[in-house]
Amino acid sequence: MSSVRGLLEHAARRLTPAADEPLLEAQVLLAHCLGRDRSWLYAWPEHIPNATQIACFAHLVDERLRGRPVAHLTGEREFWSLRLLISPDTLIPRPETEHLIETALALELPDDARVLDLGTGSGAIALALASARRTWRLTGLDRSAAALAVARENARRLALHNVDFLASDWFEALPEQSRFDLIVANPPYVALDDPHLTRGDLRFEPRAALVSGPDGLDAIRHIAANAATHLVPGGWLWLEHGSDQGGRVGAMLRQHGFDQVELRHDLAGRERASGGRSPRRGGQAQSGNPT
Ligand code: GLN
Repeated sequence: MSSVRGLLEHAARRLTPAADEPLLEAQVLLAHCLGRDRSWLYAWPEHIPNATQIACFAHLVDERLRGRPVAHLTGEREFWSLRLLISPDTLIPRPETEHLIETALALELPDDARVLDLGTGSGAIALALASARRTWRLTGLDRSAAALAVARENARRLALHNVDFLASDWFEALPEQSRFDLIVANPPYVALDDPHLTRGDLRFEPRAALVSGPDGLDAIRHIAANAATHLVPGGWLWLEHGSDQGGRVGAMLRQHGFDQVELRHDLAGRERASGGRSPRRGGQAQSGNPT
């Protein structure tokens, strides 16, 4: 009979060529089939799962060997200690995006801050901020109805009531007069011909959540050009971007009149996010169109 320990060892060996962290992935998949947390596996290594559970695990390991992302196999991913539902209609939240959450939480914002998350996907960023700051009001936008359904279900399951989700192609559906204290986004920023798109989880994620034009910067250009009109004077814009895009994103923010432009690195030391403050007088970019 196969124990938890035996099943994990066997699966980790099978997953070794395909996975970055074979034992971790085997644990996540087995815990899912057992309806337990990963920590339970450490407590009960000699437990013998039943035949249905073993068949479930064997199936998921086979699917993983075909390349399907672990988050799609379990239908969930942890982000900022929140267990989020994930589907093939949403980007899979990445640990490096937690850096954007830390950055946002470190800003000096009013207790009743209004915060906008552009391209919210599963709602990861909006929900993490909503859970960490119960007095903030979050709005998450996405143009994908399927992604918004996932985000709304996540808010319901997490019982977070200070967040609303709205269908919108970037700023398009926002009322003209809405103003935020902070706008955050993890927009698509991968270049069209980036070879990473043919590898790993990216093959299974929505293209529109990953790719943004020949240099990957189309979405960020659009956001940088339009964010100031939806920020209060002195409001912040913070964007995740690719590890070679910091210089270009910073230049765009300055060009659109943002001050205090900063670049942040993630734990691996890679350029990861840039932000700045909207011009203090009015919502218009200083160097923009005078009309
Ligand atoms: N960080 C992701 C990756 O390259 C891309 C996410 C995005 O485009 N926003 O794996």
